[in-house]
Amino acid sequence: MTARLFWSERGQIGCARPGHMPFPGTDTFVWERWEPLDEETARKNRLRCESCAADELRKTGGPR
Ligand SMILES: [Zn+2]
Repeated sequence: MTARLFWSERGQIGCARPGHMPFPGTDTFVWERWEPLDEETARKNRLRCESCAADELRKTGGPR
């Protein structure tokens, strides 16, 4: 399964799931310069959606 990743000029990483990144075309999306992140770069740098990672931590209890 490959989730489409995006990143912003500020180094934030998000995916296309609702709430994980600004909606394309919105002011935030444009101002923060969100762009698609190619899969190879993501894999090489072990990048992943920050919101998804946070969700997983919440589900598993994560580090306290
Ligand atoms: Zn996500």
